[in-house]
Amino acid sequence: MNIHEHQAKAVLKEFGAPVPRGQAAYSAAEAARIAETLGGPVWVVKAQIHAGGRGKAGGVKVVKSAGEVKEAAAELMGKVLVTHQTGPEGKEVRRLLVEEGVEIERELYFSMLVDRATGWPAIICSTEGGMDIEAVAAETPEKILTLAIDPATGIQSFHARKVAVSLGLREKQYAKQVNSLMRSLYAAFIQKDMSLLEVNPLIVTKAGNLLCLDAKVSFDDNASFRHPEFADLRDQTEEDPKEREAKAHGLSYVALDGNIGCMVNGAGLAMATMDIIKLYGAEPANFLDVGGGADTATVTAAFKIITQDPQVKGILVNIFGGIMKCDVIAEGVIAAVKETGLSVPLVVRLAGTNVEKGKAILDASDLDITPADDLDDAAQKIVAAVGGDK
Ligand code: ADP
Ligand code: MG
Repeated sequence: MNIHEHQAKAVLKEFGAPVPRGQAAYSAAEAARIAETLGGPVWVVKAQIHAGGRGKAGGVKVVKSAGEVKEAAAELMGKVLVTHQTGPEGKEVRRLLVEEGVEIERELYFSMLVDRATGWPAIICSTEGGMDIEAVAAETPEKILTLAIDPATGIQSFHARKVAVSLGLREKQYAKQVNSLMRSLYAAFIQKDMSLLEVNPLIVTKAGNLLCLDAKVSFDDNASFRHPEFADLRDQTEEDPKEREAKAHGLSYVALDGNIGCMVNGAGLAMATMDIIKLYGAEPANFLDVGGGADTATVTAAFKIITQDPQVKGILVNIFGGIMKCDVIAEGVIAAVKETGLSVPLVVRLAGTNVEKGKAILDASDLDITPADDLDDAAQKIVAAVGGDK
């Protein structure tokens, strides 16, 4: 789960990390009022969208009067911002961050993430801040330091020294600042169950202070049960409406780029189904696991989410009936098709509990359904039906 920059900065502040003074605004008038309270002489108006690269796309405006804050805010609010992270369709700006403008001496890069290879948190930092870190990693990997942190002991002084040296902050005045910044960020990262905390840029101000000028935070959704406060930070307008709908029905759904909609039970079978679609030369439009105990209503909801995706040119239902019975699936499919209509080919492969009953229900319906006997057969049929056959 991603949150906005202004929310991320509020979290970091709570843990004692230095961030610029600022506040979120939902209208140009509100932005101007915030500018008055902050006081000048320089303000920055920043579009709040769940994507980076706003600076280059015109989503960060540095201005010198409260009047200009209002103008910049009016211009940004409602604008569709296209950055290298939004995709060509862009993202609509629905809120802003108005903050004090600071004088930047140097821009650095600092982030924390969970390193799957070591199973430990890792710190990644670089002198090349404010830029696309992927490009730095590709072109000048020697400018990036990666440091694994043993979660049993957390941040130690030697970690801070290493980071300070690699960031070119050798002067004594920075030792304490780097140490305390790292401890604050690490505490926030661990206690808030973040999967990513990226400060790009972390800056050195002209006055010689470290400041988190940008902040991107992702929380681990699996930990949301122990963080009721996450719910208040969720911005549903930033989420894929199909994924939101799926979540409301307890479905595991991830939208993908292909054109074959999949409805499967069990994460393993869902992965296998996606693999086999690719094997036969097409691409899945989604990952969708209806789970073990789905009922007709859940199946209907799942089917609707798939059919309402304009990308979907064919649907593959692949269900192994265990706890979930094949006849329930068949009824769910029929109910959903009756409600939403079916304009694309549909291949259904059922196996397991009540399979004969399920097949009979589908046969008896007058729907145009192509039955399949096994996974191979099903995948080949649906790939051929969407014309994606190699
Ligand atoms: P993004 O990563 O989406 O481009 P950033 O928050 O990193 O957005 O801002 C882009 C650039 O704008 C920064 O690298 C910095 O140079 C400038 N900037 C952002 N916030 C401020 C601020 N409060 N004061 C001065 N400059 C800022
Ligand atoms: Mg940034």
